Amino acid sequence: PLVLGIETSCDETGVGVVRGHTLLADAIASSVDEHARFGGVVPEVASRAHLEAMTPTVDRALSEAGVTLADVDAIAVTAGPGLAGALLVGVAAAKAYALGLGKPLYGVNHLTAHVAVDQLEHGPLPKPCVALLVSGGHSSLLLVPDVASDVRPLGATVDDAAGEAFDKVARVLDLGFPGGPYIDRAAREGDPASISFPRGKYEDGTYDFSFSGLKTAVARWVESRERAGDPVPVADVAAAFQEAVVDVLTKKAIAACKDNDASHLLIGGGVAANSRLRALAQERCEAAGIRLRVPRPKLCTDNGAMVAALGAELVGAGLAPSALDLPADSSLPITDVLV
Ligand code: ATP
Ligand code: MG
Ligand code: FE
Repeated sequence: PLVLGIETSCDETGVGVVRGHTLLADAIASSVDEHARFGGVVPEVASRAHLEAMTPTVDRALSEAGVTLADVDAIAVTAGPGLAGALLVGVAAAKAYALGLGKPLYGVNHLTAHVAVDQLEHGPLPKPCVALLVSGGHSSLLLVPDVASDVRPLGATVDDAAGEAFDKVARVLDLGFPGGPYIDRAAREGDPASISFPRGKYEDGTYDFSFSGLKTAVARWVESRERAGDPVPVADVAAAFQEAVVDVLTKKAIAACKDNDASHLLIGGGVAANSRLRALAQERCEAAGIRLRVPRPKLCTDNGAMVAALGAELVGAGLAPSALDLPADSSLPITDVLV
């Protein structure tokens, strides 16, 4: 099926077009520059930007894909989780397109879409696989018997999300927003072994994570340097912090694969763009005989193609579409693939 996917859960207006597992277009308009001076996404600003960007981004995606609205078989949209006002803009637009075209509407889970998107790059997902979902608002390990209908949480962060920790540490180091890419870049010049930061819940035998102690430890370390009038070795702090995060993420992800007899590990969400996470996961998966799948960085951060990919999966599975009065749900549970 030819599916148009619309994503507006945060600050990216994403519109993707896929045919089955083939990516045809991935158009994005971001309001990130408008939020940067506030050091975080301002919901009202994001909603207004989505409104302005929606129609042009849909048009751009269609022309990039070389198709017209009449060719589209189904509309998919992020129904949650995310910022309520931002989600509403996408859901309202998707309803209008679905109603106007007389095509089915699929309201999908943003987090599942972060997992489903890998199929555009590496083909059908093995059933089951383990997914490590690491993004700005979530950090979870999932057992995924079927990405269209069966997603089971194994564990999740008990406090901050991994991406949130990257963003907060970047602020402490006076790097830009969002912090993940800046830390990633700074860390390349640093020595990860130069400072030993705590690894929360490392040996607790669960699939849960904790990053708030790490974030506080980094802030204290930097403050004590500044108080003593010593220069802060930004690259070393970034590298040591990043190593602590990716060490615990990969350790628990591999344990989850082994315990669930999963031959494949998938990593998705914005933090999956991190170069050190990708490298260490590859190294540890090879050592454990597990196959690693990570989409290219542009498909890890928020985009419309991931929503279209999950929509195509649902159409292919023969699932009934959403009602046209589909609500946006800012706290949609990870187990609800389709609303
Ligand atoms: P959620 O998916 O939980 O609703 P979100 O949609 O806001 O949250 P994503 O776009 O999936 O989040 O991911 C954004 C997060 O990814 C940010 O916290 C950002 O700092 C982080 N990130 C992006 N690139 C990198 C990178 N190279 N290294 C580490 N973190 C990164
Ligand atoms: Mg974003
Ligand atoms: Fe996301």
